[in-house]
Amino acid sequence: MTQILDGKAFSAEVRRKVAQHVEKLKKDHGITPGLAVILVGKDPASEVYVRNKGKQTREAGMTSFEYKMDESVSETKLLTKIQTLNNDPKVHGILCQLPLPKHINESLVINSIIPEKDVDGFHISNVGLLNTGQDALTPCTPLGCLMLLRKNLGNLSGKDAVIIGRSNIVGKPMASLLLRDSCTVTIAHSRTKDIKAICKKADILIAAAGQPEMVNSNWIGQGATVIDVGINRVKDESHSKKKFRLVGDVNFKSACEVAGSITPVPGGVGPMTIACLLANTVTACCRSNKLEVPPEFLA
Ligand code: NDP
Repeated sequence: MTQILDGKAFSAEVRRKVAQHVEKLKKDHGITPGLAVILVGKDPASEVYVRNKGKQTREAGMTSFEYKMDESVSETKLLTKIQTLNNDPKVHGILCQLPLPKHINESLVINSIIPEKDVDGFHISNVGLLNTGQDALTPCTPLGCLMLLRKNLGNLSGKDAVIIGRSNIVGKPMASLLLRDSCTVTIAHSRTKDIKAICKKADILIAAAGQPEMVNSNWIGQGATVIDVGINRVKDESHSKKKFRLVGDVNFKSACEVAGSITPVPGGVGPMTIACLLANTVTACCRSNKLEVPPEFLA
């Protein structure tokens, strides 16, 4: 029978550990980790994410700084805000919710956050550190996937891992992390030939393509571990009241015919992403105060 990898339960465990470390930082050192989140505009999905991040930051005992800026805010004003937060000792992590409006240069904004406070792990320095096997702040979604895989499979050394998707925020950092854990890594994308056959050979299949239910049992090898990163809103034909439902990149029912274990959507990778954001904030706080980082929060 296929094992369901319960990201909701595991993320609650990670958040409990974060809260314990926060308590210790307060008690032993008088330091309260702080996370600043900037939201530009009124994208409904981003508003929900930011609200959840703020709530979970406070629940973990940290300080949440939230800044909402108008859709029309100038790039200069946004960069000035980031500069202020870079210099604020109460702020240990800074995140600017993506996507940004078209008139703002996204990579300029990402790289204006100092690497030490870049809890999304998107700064070019953190990308370089991760790829060269050094201490980086690691992108939260791939870090959450890695934690789920290690919990389920233990040592990943020698496993064949296939990642569908080569984005900077999911596919590429996921590949770096699995390579670090000595997997044999293949990255598939929209131009990959015979993608099903490649995926079917994988011990670990990570789907991060943003294509609703693209992967089915024909893509999955017997007993493989499937991590579904995709979050797609599709029209719900079955319920008259709810117009949309969330599905992953994997057809869950079909995949369960062959997969050894699988993450559901929702309730799989999604909750792990926020838990890892909180863990990264503790990591950033410890490093900036020259304190030991809890090893369970690291890649
Ligand atoms: P991007 O759109 O940036 O990248 C998608 C990647 O998938 C690209 O590399 C693309 O290939 C590839 N791809 C698209 N269609 C196909 C196809 N038919 N066959 C093979 N490869 C394909 O997406 P993200 O990486 O940002 O996100 C991926 C998914 O993960 C989305 O559903 C997103 O909502 C979700 N997500 C979930 C998070 C969570 O917390 N659970 C966090 C972040 C993202 P190419 O490069 O050739 O175009």
